[in-house]
Amino acid sequence: MGRVWPYYSNWRDELFKCSHCGWSGNVTTADVGEVGGGAVSIECPKCYRNLGVVIEFPNLKDTEEAAAHGNQEAIAALPGFRQRIKRNYELLEKFEQEKLRNADQLPDLEGESLEFDWDFEKGADGEFHQVIRTGDVEVWRELAFFNNVRRFEEIKELLTVKYGTRFKSLTPTSASMEWLSGDNLGRALQISNT
Ligand SMILES: [Zn+2]
Repeated sequence: MGRVWPYYSNWRDELFKCSHCGWSGNVTTADVGEVGGGAVSIECPKCYRNLGVVIEFPNLKDTEEAAAHGNQEAIAALPGFRQRIKRNYELLEKFEQEKLRNADQLPDLEGESLEFDWDFEKGADGEFHQVIRTGDVEVWRELAFFNNVRRFEEIKELLTVKYGTRFKSLTPTSASMEWLSGDNLGRALQISNT
């Protein structure tokens, strides 16, 4: 995987060299993209091979520590970071209250062969929702979370319980694929940042 640099370290000052094409230069914040979960693996800007450089995104503790040491970027990022964590926590609470728990919550449906879509929509409240449909009928809607294969399997199980052998399939729509796989443009590595 290459060398892992914590986000709040001096990777911006380091001269990196591509072992494939010989390019050398700096990696900038723009190469790293938006700070999110996990880490990002940096490509050579010339030949797009992996440079063997991984920038690990900071969690709240990293950001608090860097801010305490006077890192200006961390000091600036800290209020927004705390706000996002608070918001995520509120969303998780909301999800726990509103999520589908029981097959009895699902509507009765006609038909001998029921095919469902696992769709993804931005709701009127600005939050992202997972929407389960069969044809034009919306069967269920709840908050969506990134990298949610486990939830997909849970919903599939509940559909099977409710509709029995009439349940034929649950298929992710293209809109929902990125969130299902947790693949952020192929760049984010699944490195724990908690
Ligand atoms: Zn290169």
